[in-house]
Amino acid sequence: MTARVLEGAPIAIQIRQELHDRVADFTRHAGRPPGLGIVLVGDDAASEIYVQNKLKAAKETGLRADFHHLPSTVSLAEVLATVERLNLSDAHDGILVQDPLPPAIASGTRAIFDTNVPEKDIDAFHPVNVGRLSQGRAVLAACTPSGVIEMLVRSGIRLEGSRAVVIGRSDIVGKPMALLLLHRDATVTICHSKTRDLPSVSAEADIIVAAVGRPGFVRRSFVKPGATVVDVGINRITDLAMARALLGADSPRLGVLERRGSLVVGDVHPEVAEVAGALTPVPGGVGPLTIAMLLKNTLLAAEARLRAASGTAV
Ligand code: NDP
Repeated sequence: MTARVLEGAPIAIQIRQELHDRVADFTRHAGRPPGLGIVLVGDDAASEIYVQNKLKAAKETGLRADFHHLPSTVSLAEVLATVERLNLSDAHDGILVQDPLPPAIASGTRAIFDTNVPEKDIDAFHPVNVGRLSQGRAVLAACTPSGVIEMLVRSGIRLEGSRAVVIGRSDIVGKPMALLLLHRDATVTICHSKTRDLPSVSAEADIIVAAVGRPGFVRRSFVKPGATVVDVGINRITDLAMARALLGADSPRLGVLERRGSLVVGDVHPEVAEVAGALTPVPGGVGPLTIAMLLKNTLLAAEARLRAASGTAV
């Protein structure tokens, strides 16, 4: 069997087209576009690329997007003050502080996410939004797991009654992923570094979501024939021998590593394509959906704020 490839880009384009129309409706109704404020601290090259991609996507969708670029020498208090200003701004419905923060203030990451008001917390990291997700009444849910749900639903993968295994239990991916699958009536098991005999647990699943952060972690033995495998992992590797072992000596992707000095691979080993029924590629699978869901959350936050301001039940 060769797995069906679940490409993220066409689904992301579809979602962004739908959002474009809803954003235009909102803008006509509210007299202003939904607004997104992005805060980047420091000069991390990868973060700058992510932020520029988000700003570009937001503008293409008709959102207002403002960029607050703070130097790496900034204090935690100054970052918090920037978030507070965005909290109070009528023009901004969504606030995003790009992770990771520079090492000197990284211990304040939690404080920054908690300072974000829940109504504008489009990453959905605030405890209020996490609690609402747990209760199945979230307006805003974490972007990457929400993107995975969109990918599965729009690809015709049945969630109701399915057995799902999520590998990874982070606050950003694993836990919200498990809750979203549960709310779609899947029977969910969460695995982590202390799970005993993980391959056997995983091999029970109709749907596997791998969010581990380890190149090629999910092997053929983890996968029931015909299962759907979603690879959330984004692992940058620089070692040619490692890339050869993972991708095969004749993989055309090795050329990327030689040209650019690094290569992005997922958490799922390429051999899984021979046993899975459907599989998301890395890159090009879940990644494009994360930005689409960020735009969607900004619109949802804007719509909820408008309803609250006009006294309509949220
Ligand atoms: P974390 O490092 O926060 O969490 C990793 C999880 O994997 C932990 O729960 C950990 O278990 C588990 N784990 C690690 N090693 C093992 C092991 N040997 N066996 C079983 N479980 C293990 O990572 P994130 O959740 O933030 O990210 C996961 C991956 O997803 C990364 O590659 C990241 O880059 C990618 N990512 C992709 C996004 C996208 O847009 N596509 C967005 C966000 C992340 P334990 O809790 O026991 O330590």
